[in-house]
Amino acid sequence: MDRLYPALEQKLDGVVLTPEQFTSDHLTNYGQIFHWTPRFVVRPSSHEDVVETIRFAREHRLFVSTRGAAHSQSELGISNGGILLDMKSMDMVLALDEQNLTVDVEAGVVWRDLVHHLKRHALVPRVLTNNLGVTVGGTVSMAGIGVASFKYGSQGDNVVEMDVVTGEGETVTCGPDGPEKDLFWSVVAGLGQVAIATRIRLQLRRFKPMTRTYYLLYDDIHRFMTDSEKIMDDPRWDHIESWSSPCPQGVKPVDGKRQPFAKWFFPYHLTVEYDHGSPPDDAALLDGLTPYDNLYTDDTPTIDFFERMIPVFELWKKAGTWEFIHPWMECVLPWETAATYIENVLVDLSPGMLIGGHILLWPAKGTTSRSRLFMRPDGENLIGFGILPAIPQKYWEQVRPMLDNASRLCIAMGAKRYLSGYIDFTMEEWREHYGDKWDWFAGCKHRWDPDGLLNPGFVPLPTAPDTAGKG
Ligand SMILES: Cc1cc2nc3c(=O)[nH]c(=O)nc-3n(C[C@H](O)[C@H](O)[C@H](O)COP(=O)(O)OP(=O)(O)OC[C@H]3O[C@@H](n4cnc5c(N)ncnc54)[C@H](O)[C@@H]3O)c2cc1C
Repeated sequence: MDRLYPALEQKLDGVVLTPEQFTSDHLTNYGQIFHWTPRFVVRPSSHEDVVETIRFAREHRLFVSTRGAAHSQSELGISNGGILLDMKSMDMVLALDEQNLTVDVEAGVVWRDLVHHLKRHALVPRVLTNNLGVTVGGTVSMAGIGVASFKYGSQGDNVVEMDVVTGEGETVTCGPDGPEKDLFWSVVAGLGQVAIATRIRLQLRRFKPMTRTYYLLYDDIHRFMTDSEKIMDDPRWDHIESWSSPCPQGVKPVDGKRQPFAKWFFPYHLTVEYDHGSPPDDAALLDGLTPYDNLYTDDTPTIDFFERMIPVFELWKKAGTWEFIHPWMECVLPWETAATYIENVLVDLSPGMLIGGHILLWPAKGTTSRSRLFMRPDGENLIGFGILPAIPQKYWEQVRPMLDNASRLCIAMGAKRYLSGYIDFTMEEWREHYGDKWDWFAGCKHRWDPDGLLNPGFVPLPTAPDTAGKG
């Protein structure tokens, strides 16, 4: 038995696991790129358990890594010889305030459970990610982008208040504008670097019972973008979602080898919510838009709309690709360079890359977010783009250079990477990613996690005293 086990176990109401009790899930994340073995997995049952775990780790000089549903892909949500804090055990929905439209949740609550908990009140968090099987703490720590982000920003922008445990084991209640706002904004999109969120208060909105979705199709990225500007400025739309879809054409030489290529199309799903008996006026909504085709109109209960991706993820699981390596390359592009970048990448992209994945295309409004650490280019309109493949282990090294090139090219064209995917930055690239926020982030790290205890191995933040508290 590990010599520290009895002391740790005795301090906590929650569960402590040692390596002989781990399952393969404890050793990796959705990326399946890194396989690390923690010394302990702790499933806290309360805020106090998190405090005790941090204090114990400080005393015994152990690192602490936090995980939600471990749907990130690089060195996140895993631990190499330290304590892995599995927050999914803190899964209680707490107080609902129908007057102020807020709900308090423990950080390990899974979004899908929250959506079902709130549906009887016709309330929903303002922004939902496509994948509802992840935790509130996990996406708030990343950013959390969804089909309503063009209106409401990231999920982190819709947090009203949080209880956090700092790397020193102190409890702080913080909000976006209060005296502890620096701590708040370094936890939002902060990858668990400075503190662990235990209670999160989320802003909600009322939803209407039905949705109507127009399945438009574009064959030209420029026309898609022109219409996107109109759509994002039109307050009648509630949700917008799009992809890049290949129509395979045959094979052609790419880098000296013949490989499949495609003509790319851009499906665009535009959704409005409505009350029973008051369906939207289709012609008025679509007036002025210029799609290549208008394929289909779908009326769905709004609650099913929120869960629309579940059948897709089920398909990926059934096909076995859920277990493959997921080195997702996602980025947020400036409007000005987006079309050139997307055309350059798609022209040689093999449609085979889409088995068990897809190519994301996501018009967004940069001005809807106040998040300091969700890095995005300047500008009002932005485009999210992502190559989301599922790759059998034996092809990983073959595919990797293509993803590295796509990553370097987008950064050269002014994009910022979304950090939940496959990231292989040098120190300089990390600094460039955070730009003028780097020193502020490092200062927060030094101030609230001076021993560098939390989530080592991904962002190489220095904890040098000369950056302390700046910003
Ligand atoms: C199929 C799929 C679909 C996706 N769709 C979207 C999407 O639509 N939009 C989007 O934005 N992202 C999307 N993602 C990315 C995903 O939302 C992020 O990776 C998110 O961080 C996952 O949440 P999680 O609960 O799994 O967190 P984890 O991956 O477990 O952790 C993520 C980070 O948060 C930290 N963390 C976790 N809990 C806490 C806490 N309580 N306090 C402090 N830090 C904490 C961890 O240390 C880690 O740094 C998708 C991923 C997959 C696999």
